[in-house]
Amino acid sequence: MSRLFGTNGVRGVTNEDMNAELALKLGKSIGTFFGGDIAIGTDTRTSNELLKNAAIAGLLSTGCNVFDAGMLPSPALQYYVKKSDKTAGVIITASHNPPEFNGIKVIDEDGTELGKDKEDKIEDIYFNEKWAAAKWNEIGKLHKIDATEEYINAVVGRVDADKIREKGFTVVLDCGNGAGSHVEPYIMSRLGCKVITLNSQPDGRFPGRNAEPIKENVSDLMRMVKECGADIGIAYDGDADRAIFIDERGEYIYGDKTLAIVSGYMAEKKGGVIVTPVSTSSCVEEFVRKKGGRVVYTKVGSPIVARKMIEVGATFGGEENGGLIFPEHQYCRDGGMASAAILEIMAVRGKKLSELVAEIPEYHLAKTKVKCSNEKKKEVMEAFVKNEGGNVDLTDGAKIYMENGWVLVRPSGTEPIIRIYAESKEKEMAGRLADEYKKKIEEIIAEKGYIS
Ligand code: MG
Repeated sequence: MSRLFGTNGVRGVTNEDMNAELALKLGKSIGTFFGGDIAIGTDTRTSNELLKNAAIAGLLSTGCNVFDAGMLPSPALQYYVKKSDKTAGVIITASHNPPEFNGIKVIDEDGTELGKDKEDKIEDIYFNEKWAAAKWNEIGKLHKIDATEEYINAVVGRVDADKIREKGFTVVLDCGNGAGSHVEPYIMSRLGCKVITLNSQPDGRFPGRNAEPIKENVSDLMRMVKECGADIGIAYDGDADRAIFIDERGEYIYGDKTLAIVSGYMAEKKGGVIVTPVSTSSCVEEFVRKKGGRVVYTKVGSPIVARKMIEVGATFGGEENGGLIFPEHQYCRDGGMASAAILEIMAVRGKKLSELVAEIPEYHLAKTKVKCSNEKKKEVMEAFVKNEGGNVDLTDGAKIYMENGWVLVRPSGTEPIIRIYAESKEKEMAGRLADEYKKKIEEIIAEKGYIS
C-alpha cells in the first residue's frame, strides 16, 4: 500500500501533491475514523485557508462537528485537544519546511501526535474510500474558538512565574513570521519580561527568515540580543513546537545543550527517567547522571519519545533539535513551555544562559554518509551488525559504544543513503571514528557487489 503519512504527518508542495482534493479526502477519512468533535488549527502559511477549509468540508460531511481555532502554535492546539473533550485535532502546518510546502498533522484525543497504528487505519479509509456520509440533517456544525488564552495560562502556570518576574529579564523573540507570533510574546510578557520582537508579524511567505531555527537562519536575532544587551534570545520554528536559544553574548546554543540543561534540572528536582533518541549527544546522559537521574533511549522521532515517556512515567524528554517535552504539561514538543522553563532555570539558579551552558560537558559530533540503494539497506545493515559481533545497540540503526565515544550507523528513512554519526570528547577522534565506520560500510557494499 502506498503511504500517505510520513514521519511528520502528510506533507507536500502546495497545489502540487498537497492540494484541496487531498485535504478534502483526508478530512473525510479523519472524520470517518474518529467521529465526534474535532479541533482544527493552522500555522501562518499562504495555503492554510485553502487546505483548512477543504479539510473542514470533509470533516463536516462525515457528521463531525469542527472547532476552528484559527492560527496558533501546534502545541496550543494539542493542549486544547487534551484539555477539552474533543475526539481529535487536525493541524495544517509544514513546521520548519520552506513556505511552498504545507502539511496535515493529526492529533489524538490526548493531544499527542497520532501513532502509526491509527495512521494506518486512516490510510486504509483514505485509499479504499470507506468514507462515512452523514444524512442531510446530521451534517456537522462549524464553530470558531480561541484556544490561545488557555494555553498561555497553562504555560505560565507550569513555571515559577514569581521567581522569573523578580528577574525582569529582557528577551528578544524571533517567531520567524510563524505560528508563535501571536502567542510567545504574550507568554514572555506575562512572565514579567521586557519583550523585543523580531519577525513576529504572521506572514506565510516567511519574509524575515527561513522557518527552521538553525544557526544560519537566526543571525539577525544573534546580533540583536547582543546589541540590545538582552538576557536571552529565542527563535521558534514555523509551528512553534521547537525553540532554540541565544545566550546574552549573542552566541547560538545548540539544541543538545538546552536539552541537557533542562534534563539535568528536572533530574535534580524530581529524579527518575529522561527519554531521548539514541542519536542524542552523550552530554545529556553525562549531565543527567551527575544530577541523579538516568536516561532511556528510543528510536528517532518525537512521537516515539512521547510514547516512551508515557510508558515509563518519565520526568522529562526531548530531542536535540529544540523539541522539549514536559510531561506534566503535555506529551508533545512545546516551544512556549521550553522558553518558560529555560527562564525558570536562569531565575532559580541565578545564572546567565552562557553560565548554564558552560556546565554541560563538551562532546564533538562528526557526520558522514554512504550511498546505498533503499532495497539493499537492510542487507548491508545486517552484514554490518554481524561483523561487529555482540556489542551493538539496535534501538535505531546500529550504535556501537566504545571507551572514547560512540558510533551510530543508521539508514535514512527517505533517501538512498546510510548515515554515520560519531561522537567523542576529542574532536579528532570523532572524525576518525566516522571515517573508520564509513570505510567499513563501503567495504560491505563493495564486497557484496551492491550497486549503490
Ligand atoms: Mg515544528
